Amino acid sequence: MSHGPDADVLIAGAGPAGAVAATLLARAGARVLVVDRARFPRDKLCGDTLNPGTLATLRRLGIDPDPIETAGLRVDGMVVTGETGVRVAGAYPAPLHGRALTRRDVDAWLVAEARAAGAQVEEGVTVRRATVDPATGRVGGLVIATAQGARVLRAPVTIAADGRHSAVAFGLGLARHPVAPRRWAVGGYFEQVDGLSAFGEMHVRRRHYLGIAPVPGGLANVCAVLAPGAGTPFDGLFGDPARLIETAVRADPVVAARFARARAVAPPVVLGPLAVVSAGRPPDGLLIAGDAAGFVDPMTGDGLHFAVRGADLAAQAALEALAHGWDGVSARVARRARHLLAGKRRFNRALRALVGSPAAMSAAAWGAALAPDLLRRIICVAGDTGVAVRQPEWGHV
Ligand SMILES: Cc1cc2nc3c(=O)[nH]c(=O)nc-3n(C[C@H](O)[C@H](O)[C@H](O)COP(=O)(O)OP(=O)(O)OC[C@H]3O[C@@H](n4cnc5c(N)ncnc54)[C@H](O)[C@@H]3O)c2cc1C
Repeated sequence: MSHGPDADVLIAGAGPAGAVAATLLARAGARVLVVDRARFPRDKLCGDTLNPGTLATLRRLGIDPDPIETAGLRVDGMVVTGETGVRVAGAYPAPLHGRALTRRDVDAWLVAEARAAGAQVEEGVTVRRATVDPATGRVGGLVIATAQGARVLRAPVTIAADGRHSAVAFGLGLARHPVAPRRWAVGGYFEQVDGLSAFGEMHVRRRHYLGIAPVPGGLANVCAVLAPGAGTPFDGLFGDPARLIETAVRADPVVAARFARARAVAPPVVLGPLAVVSAGRPPDGLLIAGDAAGFVDPMTGDGLHFAVRGADLAAQAALEALAHGWDGVSARVARRARHLLAGKRRFNRALRALVGSPAAMSAAAWGAALAPDLLRRIICVAGDTGVAVRQPEWGHV
């Protein structure tokens, strides 16, 4: 028996992209149903920092980040090091700052905001794929797994916000893992790490990098992003996340001494391959937000900013589609995304290419290629602070 739509907007995934889109849409009067396979609060492998641009965007969207400002540790900028002792600290322009708070807390708060706005959030519900009308090619909803078997949810608008390995985007052939880069992330929490400060840390090495950020509770979030098979000491350790992350910190010439007393407080998590690229424009009926729309690696620490801005774009487009139908909506949303997000994506690609180049990362070239002043400005651009760096300044390396 056919039934009416389950909601005006169905959202797969209640991470930051899904929860923010749900909040904006519910506040605008739409009937929103969000499903997530997890139950909140849940852990999520992340560097746990919200950059200044993420906090500013939440505020601009009317999602007051006060709870994050209160519970999170202040992040005043970033320290970047190279393996031969180059060290540059870049402060965000005052009064801008970021915050460090576990994603367990951030995401649970965003889900509560979505519920408070009137969205229905169903936890412990796994999305299998989107449904597509074979006659029109239009997406009409989601297939979810239930204890009784598969069930179809229907809505005129579906938003895929189900993260890096989006069942919706992969299922429709709209996302794929590229041949390169193929990197994995391993992350966890340590206690008694010495020398933490109000600056996040990015330790860039020839074939990997290490991010460290203090989080509340006297802990340090430690994430390493590495490529297996690169002839590094990490080869062969990918099946043993605990040894992998211990090796990454304890074999590092710059940070090892600060981990002399440190101890991992929980088993670390490995994720990969990290890179996912989008492969085409979604059909009518479907919008994509956050990591589901593409993710390369977290070096610039701005994935949450993309997720929040992408959620805003998806919510605007959903309201247009609900009011006037789908005609032209996908093209408009693609244009707006290009306008708002493409410049930063280009910056991120260029930075990654630089760091991925062994020649540029060799000790001598590093200092020459990235003069400290330029590196400080790059840190501000990565933080979405509004500071600009013209790529030709460093695009030659
Ligand atoms: C190692 C690492 C460090 C990072 N550090 C930072 C950082 O410091 N700062 C920063 O801004 N960004 C960072 N990022 C990036 C950031 O984590 C992501 O960009 C961000 O989480 C994207 O949000 P999202 O809502 O799109 O996806 P997610 O946060 O992944 O949320 C997706 C949600 O969908 C749910 N879901 C997935 N599949 C299904 C399914 N089939 N059915 C139902 N539900 C499903 C999941 O349970 C999840 O709740 C980091 C990423 C990594 C890997």
